[in-house]
Amino acid sequence: MNPDEYSGWQTKAVHAGTRRSQYGEMSEAIFMTQGFSYESAEQAESRFIECGEDEFIYARYGNPTVRMFEERMAALEGVEDGFATGSGMAAVHGTLCALLSSGDRLVSSRALFGSCLFIVESVLPRFGVEVELVDGTDAAQWQSAIRPGTKAVFLETVSNPMLEVIDLRHVADLTRRVGATLIVDNALATPVFQRTGDLGADIVIYSTTKHVDGQGRCLGGIVLGEQEFIRRIFEPFVKHTGGAISPFNAWIMLKGLETMSLRCHRQADTALQLAECAESHANVAKVRYPHLPSHPQQRLATGQMQKGGTVLTLEVNGGRDAAFRFINALSLFQISNNFADAKSIVTHPATTTHQRLTVEQRLHLGITDGVVRISAGLEDPADLLVDLSRALDAV
Ligand SMILES: *Cc1c(COP(=O)(O)O)cnc(C)c1O
Repeated sequence: MNPDEYSGWQTKAVHAGTRRSQYGEMSEAIFMTQGFSYESAEQAESRFIECGEDEFIYARYGNPTVRMFEERMAALEGVEDGFATGSGMAAVHGTLCALLSSGDRLVSSRALFGSCLFIVESVLPRFGVEVELVDGTDAAQWQSAIRPGTKAVFLETVSNPMLEVIDLRHVADLTRRVGATLIVDNALATPVFQRTGDLGADIVIYSTTKHVDGQGRCLGGIVLGEQEFIRRIFEPFVKHTGGAISPFNAWIMLKGLETMSLRCHRQADTALQLAECAESHANVAKVRYPHLPSHPQQRLATGQMQKGGTVLTLEVNGGRDAAFRFINALSLFQISNNFADAKSIVTHPATTTHQRLTVEQRLHLGITDGVVRISAGLEDPADLLVDLSRALDAV
C-alpha cells in the first residue's frame, strides 16, 4: 500500500504529497531553483501547452518542494487541490481578486484580521466591488445580506482578537442558496481543530505563518479548494501577479506539518488552563476562550471546533495602564504581535495590531484598552501559570 492511501490525519501530515528524488532522501528535498531545463525545444513547447503532474516551468507557477506542501495541505483539509503563496495576505488578496470583478457583491464579517479588513474595505471598492460588512455573530444580518446577486462571502472564525464564533453551517447554507462562494480564513481555528470544508466552506485559506510553521520562522499562505477553482481561477491570477512562496519557506511549512497537530493540541490544552486561571483572578474583568463555559457561543464553538484553539483574550480591570502593567510584569511571555509560536506571546491589540482603527471601530469589535491577547506556546504550562498569576497580581 502506498503511504498516501492510509486515511489517518497524522499519517497524512507526515507522508502525504511526498516526492522522492533518485537519491531516496528521507527528509523532503528543497528544490531551490527558479527555473527548469528541457531536453529539447519540442519538450519546452509541449510543456507550455500542457504542464503535467510532475513537470514544472518556472517557480512563480510551481516548484516540486512547493507542490509537496500544497498536496500535503490539500490531503489534510480533505480537498482536491491547493496553491501556496508567499504570505497569508497574498492568499487572501489573490483569492478575492481572482474571484471578484467590478459590479460584484461581497458580504464579509466585520471582525477580520486588520489587513483583511483593509482589502475588503479599502482595496476592493476601488475596483468597483460592492462590499457589505456584517456582525458575524448575528444570524439575521447574514440572512439579509446574503441575497441573490451576492458573488462571494468571506469570514474568519474564530475571529482575532475577540474570538467570536460564526455559525459556519448557517452561513454556508445561505451562501449555497444564492449560488455564491464561501471563503473562510481559518488561521486562528487551525486545520487541526476546525475542518472548515466539512462545515460547508468552498475555499479555505491559511496564513501558514501561524500554526503550520508554528515556530515563528517565516511567512507563508495557502488557498485550498476544488481543482476547478484552484487551477482554472486562482492559479492563472496568482502565477501572473507574483504571489509565489519561496521553495525554502514551503519546505519549512512541510516540516512544520509533521508536528502541527502535536503542537496545537498541547498549546490548546495550555491555553484552556491559562484561561481558567485568568478567569478566577480578581484583576480580570473578562476572559474570552471559545471552549470556556463563559464564552457567549460556547455551544457553537464546541460543536464546530474540536478544541478551543491556542489563543485567549482577557480584559484586565483598569484600562490601558493596567494592561501595560500586566504586560510589562510578564517575564516568560514575549511582547510581540504574532501568535501560534512555540514561544508564548502577549499582545495589546488596541495600541498595536488594531491601532489603525478608530476608537469607535475598536469598541464595535470589543477591543477596549484593557484587552490583552495571549498566545499559548510550548513551554511547561506550570511555568506559564506562575508567570501569568504573578503578572495579574501586579496589575
Ligand atoms: C496572520 C493572519 C493573516 C495574514 O497572514 P500573513 O502570513 O501575516 O500574511 C490573515 N488572516 C488571519 C486570520 C491571520 O491571523
